[in-house]
Amino acid sequence: MTAPRIGRCPQCGAPATLETSNAFRPFCSERCKLLDFGAWINGQYTIPAVENDVDGEDIEPPNDPRDRLQ
Ligand SMILES: [Zn+2]
Repeated sequence: MTAPRIGRCPQCGAPATLETSNAFRPFCSERCKLLDFGAWINGQYTIPAVENDVDGEDIEPPNDPRDRLQ
């Protein structure tokens, strides 16, 4: 007897199957997967809007993401 492994969707908290049949695991749906992915990009990384000429020096550090939460 093989009961499907059920986890909890990190995005909305709903039960989500962790089997390979769930293409969006550990999320419950594509929507939650995309939402989490967007939050991950916006919260963790600052994507430069302009590509700098790479001279190998004087590269400013990215803005601290914590500043955006204030
Ligand atoms: Zn969900």
